[in-house]
Amino acid sequence: MTNQIGQLSTIPPKQRSEEAIKAFMKNKKDIPIEAFKGGFILTKVANPWSTGDLRLINTNVEDNPAVTFNYFSHPSDLQRCVEGIQLVTKVVQSQHFTNLTMCVRETTEQLLNSTVKANVNLIPKHVNDTKSLEQFCKDTVITIWHYHGGCHVGKVVDSDHKVLGVNRLRVIDGSTFTESPGTNPQATVMMMGRYMGLKILRNRLGKFGGV
Ligand SMILES: Cc1cc2nc3c(=O)[nH]c(=O)nc-3n(C[C@H](O)[C@H](O)[C@H](O)COP(=O)(O)OP(=O)(O)OC[C@H]3O[C@@H](n4cnc5c(N)ncnc54)[C@H](O)[C@@H]3O)c2cc1C
Repeated sequence: MTNQIGQLSTIPPKQRSEEAIKAFMKNKKDIPIEAFKGGFILTKVANPWSTGDLRLINTNVEDNPAVTFNYFSHPSDLQRCVEGIQLVTKVVQSQHFTNLTMCVRETTEQLLNSTVKANVNLIPKHVNDTKSLEQFCKDTVITIWHYHGGCHVGKVVDSDHKVLGVNRLRVIDGSTFTESPGTNPQATVMMMGRYMGLKILRNRLGKFGGV
C-alpha cells in the first residue's frame, strides 16, 4: 500500500511554473510503479447542502475569481462524510477485501494516516486527523476535479445558456450545473454541448440545418 499519488493539484496554481511542472513530471517518473497499481476508495457527498460562492474580483478576464467553497458548512454533509468513511473503512478491513488485495489488514488509524499523508489537497492538516473523523473529512476533502456551478442557469445565464444582460454570448459548460452529475462529468458536459449546438442550429436554420 502506498499513498504516493503525485497530484499536480497539490502544487498551488500560481506556483505551476514551467520549472515546477518539469520537476513534478520528473518526480512522478520516480514514483514506484506499484503506486499506480492500487486505487482510492472515496466516499462521495452527493448533492451537498453546503453552498459556497464565486465572485469576480474585477472585469479582467485574466484574473481568477474569488471562490469560497464552504465545504461541510452544513452539519449533515459532515455527518454523511463521517458515515461514508466508517463504511469504507469497514469494507477495506473486511476479510473479503484483504483476500482480494492480498494486503495485511490495516488498523483504522493506519488507513486514515495513509490518506492524510497522500496530501490530496492544499488544506493544512491537523494532528487529530486520525482521531476525529470530522476533522479527517474536513482536511482530506476534494472535488476529484469535478468543479462546477460558477455560472448557474437563472443567475448568470438563462435557460438557453445565454449570458444575462450580454448579447451574442453563451456559456455551455459544467459551470452552469447546479449539481454535479452522479458520475464523472465529462460525458454529460459533452452531451450538453452537442444538445445545445443542435438546438441552436435547428432554431437558426430550421429544416435546412439538416439536424
Ligand atoms: C485532472 C483532472 C482529471 C479529470 N478526470 C476526469 C475523468 O476521468 N472523467 C471525467 O468525466 N471528467 C474528468 N475530469 C473533469 C472534466 O475534465 C471536467 O468536468 C470537464 O472538462 C468540464 O468541462 P467544461 O467544458 O465545463 O470546462 P473546461 O474543460 O474547464 O473548459 C472551460 C474552458 O473555458 C476556458 N475559459 C476559462 N475562462 C475563460 C475566459 N474568461 N474566456 C474564455 N475562455 C475561458 C478555459 O480555458 C477552458 O478551455 C477531470 C478533470 C481534471 C482537472
